[in-house]
Amino acid sequence: MQSSQTRWSKWSDRLRQSLSFMLQAQCPLCDRPSQSVFCKDCTRRLQACRRPSSLLQVEDLPPLYVWGNYDGALKQSLARLKYDHRPLVAEPLGQWLGQLWLNSAPLDRNLVAVPIPLHKDRQQQRGYNQAEIIARSFCQVTGMPLRANGLTRTLATTAQFGLSRQERYQNLSNVFQLSADLQKHKSKKDIVLVDDIFTTGATLKSAIETLQQSGFRVVALVTIAISERRSA
Ligand SMILES: [Zn+2]
Repeated sequence: MQSSQTRWSKWSDRLRQSLSFMLQAQCPLCDRPSQSVFCKDCTRRLQACRRPSSLLQVEDLPPLYVWGNYDGALKQSLARLKYDHRPLVAEPLGQWLGQLWLNSAPLDRNLVAVPIPLHKDRQQQRGYNQAEIIARSFCQVTGMPLRANGLTRTLATTAQFGLSRQERYQNLSNVFQLSADLQKHKSKKDIVLVDDIFTTGATLKSAIETLQQSGFRVVALVTIAISERRSA
């Protein structure tokens, strides 16, 4: 017969095991427990969204580095990030973007990374700026300095969805303002803009114009995903 001490120790082991199972983070895509942000299956599904060629040249824009296509698991994870309060999703995505940069972009530049900001009302509602978390992870991998608040969004734009290309550009003119933080660091004039999705490029174009007006140069754009609806 087992002593009560042994029974208790077995029971407490089992309790500890089930607690650690329950306390393990859940994969934001499939809700199963996971050691890392995404579980192995979802990591595979995400890797399947990766683009074979990451460097794109879009008319009138600096070179664009994109990790994956806005589809399947990648589309799902960006939706979780933006609308389901799962900020952690941005961390591995930003790291993968950083790896992509290290593997494919010129490294010998005196660059700083600036995320595309949200309007403060939107950020308050969401609790964070997803592009900033992506940029932070990106900078940890690349070693690029981050100006998290380099730009501010002065106008709350109406939703871009359903607008024509012309309407999107109008919706986004004079939206951004250079922050004091970036003005203080004028010695570093070459900027990499970071955003979550590239759609028409209207948002990025508006940010580029604001930066150019103050003597900065945007040398590259980096985004996690590109939407094939971009020509709409
Ligand atoms: Zn999963």
